[in-house]
Amino acid sequence: MLYAILEGASQALGIKRQDIDGCLYPSEEGIMLILFDNVPGGAGLVKRIVDRESLLNVLKNALERVKNCTCGKETSCYGCLRNYQNQFCHEILRRDVVWEFLENNLGSEGDV
Ligand SMILES: [Zn+2]
Repeated sequence: MLYAILEGASQALGIKRQDIDGCLYPSEEGIMLILFDNVPGGAGLVKRIVDRESLLNVLKNALERVKNCTCGKETSCYGCLRNYQNQFCHEILRRDVVWEFLENNLGSEGDV
């Protein structure tokens, strides 16, 4: 999910993928997705992503990306979720899980 959002944000908002990154943070409420600017001093990129209207576009882009990729559903590739930076977890990145979650949670009206 984290990598789908980052890829979606890069595509939807024209942000260079290497300028944003993220990590998972376990909390009492569950696992949180942390997004951060990956440029010295920050550049307000994440702020642009979480703006309500942008976020919807970002999530729609993320959905399109995992839905339309041609790799195996229970896996991932460099066309959808994988990149050089996340190669430590390539084996556990599955596009079907993200696809299902986003399809079920992005309402037809686009409500999140
Ligand atoms: Zn793929």
